[in-house]
Amino acid sequence: MLLRMALRKKTSKLTAVTAAVALAIAPMSSALAQENKGPPVIRDTEAEQLLRDYTRPILRAAGLEKQNIQIVILNESVFNAFVADGRRIFVNYGAIMQSETPNQIIGVLAHETGHLAGGHLAKLREQLARAQTQMIIAMLLGAGAMVAGARSGNGNNGLANAGAAAVAGPQEMIRRTLISYQRQQEENADRAGVKFLTATGQSARGMYETFKRFTEDSLFAARGADPYLQSHPMPAERVAALEELARSSPYWDKKDDPALQSRHDMVRAKISAFMERQDTVYRRYPLSNESLPARYARAIVTYLHGDLHSALVQIDGLIQLQPTNPYFYELRGQALLEGGKPAEAIAPLRKAVQLSNNAPLIEMLLGQALVGTNNKAYTEEAIAILRAAVARETEAPLGYTQLAMAYGRKGDFAQADLASAQAAFLRGDNKTARELASRAKTRFAVGTPGWVKADDIVVAKPLPGQNSN
Ligand SMILES: [Zn+2]
Repeated sequence: MLLRMALRKKTSKLTAVTAAVALAIAPMSSALAQENKGPPVIRDTEAEQLLRDYTRPILRAAGLEKQNIQIVILNESVFNAFVADGRRIFVNYGAIMQSETPNQIIGVLAHETGHLAGGHLAKLREQLARAQTQMIIAMLLGAGAMVAGARSGNGNNGLANAGAAAVAGPQEMIRRTLISYQRQQEENADRAGVKFLTATGQSARGMYETFKRFTEDSLFAARGADPYLQSHPMPAERVAALEELARSSPYWDKKDDPALQSRHDMVRAKISAFMERQDTVYRRYPLSNESLPARYARAIVTYLHGDLHSALVQIDGLIQLQPTNPYFYELRGQALLEGGKPAEAIAPLRKAVQLSNNAPLIEMLLGQALVGTNNKAYTEEAIAILRAAVARETEAPLGYTQLAMAYGRKGDFAQADLASAQAAFLRGDNKTARELASRAKTRFAVGTPGWVKADDIVVAKPLPGQNSN
């Protein structure tokens, strides 16, 4: 897992694809409230891989496997999952934390895939399909505020208000559309979700359990407390219909594969350790708990709170138990890198890259360690690794930031400017991106690949409603 150095002042977080700068894109007061809790998106190879493994069979059953649909984990502790366009399923980390079994979160993902497959957001899909994740996030931050502030009553008014929303502008339309599906669309998504689960030999019990919990919670919670409930109205009849449907599946009683449950438990432990308060983590995973997830959570918390030596001892214990788990080496490398020991971080990160089949986010961390040594002998290797990483992971600014430093060290200022421009662009800082790209253009020969890439940034148009600077 990666970590963004700049965010370290308060607490360490899982890496951000987009730093808080996405907030600069649009003037949304709600966005400001996000500033002190870190970046809006969480990046982590282990968690993303797990969610990809959860969704892949579902997407295949839905006929969407060719569409390269991305799962984006949002830095929000409340339960939520939704689709905003045809390319991404957004999941709050809180939804993962509140799902005790893989089947529970898979059920929610199946329901969301039902919305995707049903084309329930077709209009939005057209508008957003080409947008970068961070641009959508910026709009969603606005959407969240509207959900929290403006919604009252229980009308299914999302798409019904599309006319008024169009007048208010695309951002407003996105907000309104995101906060509520029509009742019929919900029922269709339930049915489609159960169909996908049955087609893949999985139970819909987790989906039913999760939705039933929301219905029960809504009887006690203040109206409007839960974003998922707001965007997915769950009247009792709907949940009853879902139960009947789910129980009719031959897989109703089927349990999750134990290996998958273990991975689920590990990811929840990791998210807890990175995202929750230290005392909360120790309450969930007390010293008396010797399970692997508990040890994982405590090792992470120990490194985050400054005791590098003790953390390394704990991580080495984990590596002894699972010597081919890439994420333990990644954690060791990350702890060393964060602890100001980039040279020592290189070996475990190389191992993590190898064991993870060259996961690009881990390659970026290795590149960061190589650059961080200030040893010129590593410059060419760092450039090669980082270039390979940014080619496959196109939305993480960290790769470009490190690439810019490596090129700068080499004296290749054209490539350094271009990489810095790409990093700024991915952070949503279009003004800086344009300035750096313009400078890069003067350093490249006209028409060369670097010049063309720089020119693409100079002429890039912001999304409708987005600030041009
Ligand atoms: Zn729904």
